[in-house]
Amino acid sequence: MNFLFAQNTITPLEAIHDPLLTNAGVSLWVKRDDLIHPDISGNKWRKLKYNFIEAERLQKKTLLTFGGAYSNHLYALAAAGNLGGFKTIGIVRGQELSENSSPGLAFCYRSGMKLVFIDREEYRLKDASPRVRQLAEQTNSFVVPEGGSNIHALKGVEELADEVCLQLKRGPDYFAVAAGTGGTAAGLLSAGQKVIAFSALKNGQFLKADIEKLLPPDTATAGGLLDLQTNYHFGGYARHTPALLKFMSEFEIRTSIPLEQVYTAKMFWGLYDLIAKGYFASGTRIVAVHTGGLQGRLPR
Ligand SMILES: *Cc1c(COP(=O)(O)O)cnc(C)c1O
Repeated sequence: MNFLFAQNTITPLEAIHDPLLTNAGVSLWVKRDDLIHPDISGNKWRKLKYNFIEAERLQKKTLLTFGGAYSNHLYALAAAGNLGGFKTIGIVRGQELSENSSPGLAFCYRSGMKLVFIDREEYRLKDASPRVRQLAEQTNSFVVPEGGSNIHALKGVEELADEVCLQLKRGPDYFAVAAGTGGTAAGLLSAGQKVIAFSALKNGQFLKADIEKLLPPDTATAGGLLDLQTNYHFGGYARHTPALLKFMSEFEIRTSIPLEQVYTAKMFWGLYDLIAKGYFASGTRIVAVHTGGLQGRLPR
């Protein structure tokens, strides 16, 4: 199994050139974690790495996790399980769904993931649901939380921060990252980095507490290093607007870096908007993490 996550995954750090940045005196790089793996992309690779290593250490042969029909986490865990020789179980939100409900679920199914569809009420309980608990016990599963965000995830994301610091020689002033469960932001914070996180969900203020919960107690004060932006959700999770899609395609043409509409386009929009408004002092150095997810990119 370890061959899968042991390979050298140092991803490129690309400088972005744009008059907007020159005018503001801001330096911007993109950490191209979207290039890590076509199916286990971006932050999902970082977050899964030590979950799989821990599962193997505990001699578990099955990983059980949770997600919605469009979850990049479910997709990545199904792919990693398949490639690494693990069985996988996906607890999917929505009793009415099937493996044909989304391209992502179809991929999970083809990758050998056992899909269990449960209603939203039961899903909210997650591993406290008696049925899920029983299934996890019967299959002797290693349980990975939604989004893969746990203590093992932090360790993988810390490696991302270390890589960037080596590549840049001197660490950036900010890491910019899109946030869903906040696990990636938490990993960067636990690496001692200053983070500006863009919520991909509406009412993303809850992320602050979720992120603090993920951090080890001695770094809980790292909350002071977190700048949480909650105004760039474009209507909510997986929602988007024509203006966002236009921004995304213009960004792709100017930089040759593909984005997707759920997370990364919202982050770059937010970042560019803040830069244009003079939010960052001249001389500020920012590394934006491309968290991947391109398999969910809308065809245009
Ligand atoms: C899952 C995902 C995120 C959110 O990461 P969290 O650690 O859950 O905050 C961001 N970007 C992409 C592309 C993702 O797939």
